[in-house]
Amino acid sequence: MPQVSVYKTESYDPARMQTAVHAHFAALDLGRMIRPDLKIVVKPNLIMKRRPEDAVTTHPVLVEAVIRQLQALGAQDITIAESAGGPYAEPLLRSLYETCGMAQVAQRTGAALNFGTGSRQIEGNGQVTRRFTVIDPIAGADLVLNICKLKTHCMTVLSGAVKNLFGCVPGLMKPELHMRYPEKEDFCQMLLDLSAALPPVISFVDAVEAMEGDGPTGGSKKQVGLTLCSCDRYALDLVNAAVLGIDPSQIVTVRRSIEQGLCPGSLEQIDLLGDRDALTQAGPFCRPRSKQTDFSSQFPAPLRPAVKKVTRFIQPKPAIRQRRCVGCGKCAESCPAHTIRIEACKARINYQSCIRCFCCHEMCPVQAIDIRRLGIFDL
Ligand code: SF4
Ligand code: SF4
Repeated sequence: MPQVSVYKTESYDPARMQTAVHAHFAALDLGRMIRPDLKIVVKPNLIMKRRPEDAVTTHPVLVEAVIRQLQALGAQDITIAESAGGPYAEPLLRSLYETCGMAQVAQRTGAALNFGTGSRQIEGNGQVTRRFTVIDPIAGADLVLNICKLKTHCMTVLSGAVKNLFGCVPGLMKPELHMRYPEKEDFCQMLLDLSAALPPVISFVDAVEAMEGDGPTGGSKKQVGLTLCSCDRYALDLVNAAVLGIDPSQIVTVRRSIEQGLCPGSLEQIDLLGDRDALTQAGPFCRPRSKQTDFSSQFPAPLRPAVKKVTRFIQPKPAIRQRRCVGCGKCAESCPAHTIRIEACKARINYQSCIRCFCCHEMCPVQAIDIRRLGIFDL
């Protein structure tokens, strides 16, 4: 039975966080996995340059507590690495680490920061993808500490343990994968394939302050007061779904991992350790407004493409708030369909080729991209 450890962690007080991390390591007996000779990569969620208090990125206090616990167990080779959205380039990594608080963590703990921009291919045995390009530190790691931020997500509904590993793919190769798998089902299967191809992973969840609504960058902060940990990222995401109060069948990565036997079908089949009664203490999360209104699966297969074409008009779509847009071009840079142009310092979307991935919404630094849906389909 997979084990998931849950610990009440009401704030980012460093001493309280260290106690929580120690409790997770003890509950799951993680010390048995740590040796001085291991190359360990700590992979937080640093999706974009945002301050820790914005609840967009993994909080540095949790990252620091995990590194200190690893060091107390004898780990010597620890590197913090991430590939955010946008280009994977050294100056951008430098300012990302600085703004998100990781440079300070590295300074205080002696852990290394990855500034290299190399990448390598790894092979897996996936259903839609068997070969992935990932950043060098991940390809060469013996163990990955996957420290995600609990958030709702406009495309995948949940940004948790499995989704955080998408940041192992370098910079602008991420939009390429969005374009190769424009359908949500295929994209989420690709995420599961990637997760399975990676080195061994221990996952932590920062749900002290989480995000609800139009995540992973444009939602609202939600106080949850929990940290979670597991060596089984699929079971952990099922537990994350319970924290969100969202039916797992509505989160494609979770539903598919259950269908494929990677994850138990219910919480009763998971050994929940620690503060299990606190799981739903924060109440249900607001869902993203991007919830799809696609009825095509209810029609016979030959009719589905036509139904899809018709229902496309009622699907939620990104919309530029012209007044707020500063013309920085980050949305265009991350758009896999190359369907955004900057004209007169404002972004414009050509909806003909938009695949509704919401990467633009995710990467806009000033929340100038809204999600529009027809009124009758409002949540
Ligand atoms: S919509 Fe946002 S990301 Fe796009 S150009 Fe405007 S400000 Fe930049
Ligand atoms: S316009 Fe936005 S939602 Fe449409 S394809 Fe580009 S990034 Fe994705």
